[in-house]
Amino acid sequence: MAKITMANPIVEMDGDEMARILWAQIKEELLLPFLELKTEYYDLGLMNRDKTGDQVTVDAGKAVKKHRVGVKCATITANDMRAEEYRLTKVWASPNATIRAILDGTVFREPILVKLIKPAVRTWVKPITIARHAYGDIYKAVEYRAPGAGKAELIFTPKNGEPVRQTVYDFEEPGVLQAVHNRDGSITSFAHACFRYALDKKQDLWFASKDTISKQYDQRFRAIFQTLFETEYRALFKAAGIGYYYTLIDDAVARAIRSEGGFVWACKNYDGDVMSDMVSAAFGSLAMMTSVLVSPDGSFEYEAAHGTITRHYYRYLNGEETSTNPLAMIFAWSGALRKRGGLDRAPALAAFADALETASLEAVESGLMTADLAGLCEGIQPKPLNTAGFIQAVRRILEEPVLKQ
Ligand code: NAP
Ligand code: MG
Repeated sequence: MAKITMANPIVEMDGDEMARILWAQIKEELLLPFLELKTEYYDLGLMNRDKTGDQVTVDAGKAVKKHRVGVKCATITANDMRAEEYRLTKVWASPNATIRAILDGTVFREPILVKLIKPAVRTWVKPITIARHAYGDIYKAVEYRAPGAGKAELIFTPKNGEPVRQTVYDFEEPGVLQAVHNRDGSITSFAHACFRYALDKKQDLWFASKDTISKQYDQRFRAIFQTLFETEYRALFKAAGIGYYYTLIDDAVARAIRSEGGFVWACKNYDGDVMSDMVSAAFGSLAMMTSVLVSPDGSFEYEAAHGTITRHYYRYLNGEETSTNPLAMIFAWSGALRKRGGLDRAPALAAFADALETASLEAVESGLMTADLAGLCEGIQPKPLNTAGFIQAVRRILEEPVLKQ
């Protein structure tokens, strides 16, 4: 059987701990037997980031920009504890933040649905993708504890002009203050990424904010989305048979709960933080959430939403058996392979990505799964497989259709 070839590489970013162990197993068992896998490899493991002064992360981000498609393993975000554990020369920045800054992207999170596990919201039969704006608002706020009576003002000093002042509040007692900001450029990038992602997925796009109350700030978000939709996307959406809808955030929440899913929900930074946890919990588990960073110039970086699964790694290091779920990481690979296949007009590659996902889901539907999922099944009590056992089960199913071709 001839292996499927690739015209262009995928940028492969290796990571840390249990995720790194799974990464190697997925490649060995599910990719290399079927593909002439062509990747540009970057080792983002913490030791190598330290050794290269984090240059490897910057290089990887630039490589994704160049080749348009990347796949990333979970990485440790360094902190003081990790710096000691790994004897780091410095507490390095989060690789995801570094890469996001290079790609200027928006993060889309989508759950993987399996029939045996019912979402907490009974009407949800299709996945809901949360698109979170990853810049500004309260995450870049300036705050102040007003200690007592006094006047709070908002002052803007133009580069060449007189300051503009507004009274925020005349305090007669102690209180709190917060100033937040966002940039037209960042909101525009966010909106482009959302429109393109909805087109790619052929799903409706919702955007919601609180513009009835926030007449400058949220209104600006709404206006940017609306203008881009009218000038660049209305015709494309019509051709794809999908729609764009703006509504108030509270209305969006109520509609989402009554919906059957199957749409992309664009959220401002805080709303996205809250809603993505709500949606992933309602759909089952963190180990079943995929994540893709999409840049406005059309680069795509796929990963699992979960981290390096440290607790399982320590068990693995102790020689204990682990039952770690590789599904979100398999889907990160299949997402990247499908995108590569699409960009390179290589249908066999895209078809392999589909087959890999189908085989993974078939394994679970037939009762073969890791411990985290076995505990969530309704009506049956499957015996959990260990990590390698599950990956081999997927391989056996995958070999059937590929062999038949
Ligand atoms: P985590 O790695 O997501 O794991 C938290 C817990 O969730 C695990 O202990 C496990 O629960 C469960 N879990 C997550 N993924 C699973 C899987 N595939 N299969 C089975 N169970 C799974 O989060 P963390 O422990 O808070 O963070 C560990 C490290 O990951 C940190 O250093 C953090 O910086 C990093 N991190 C990286 C990324 C990224 O690179 N994108 C994202 C988040 C965190 P049980 O132990 O109960 O089985
Ligand atoms: Mg959160």
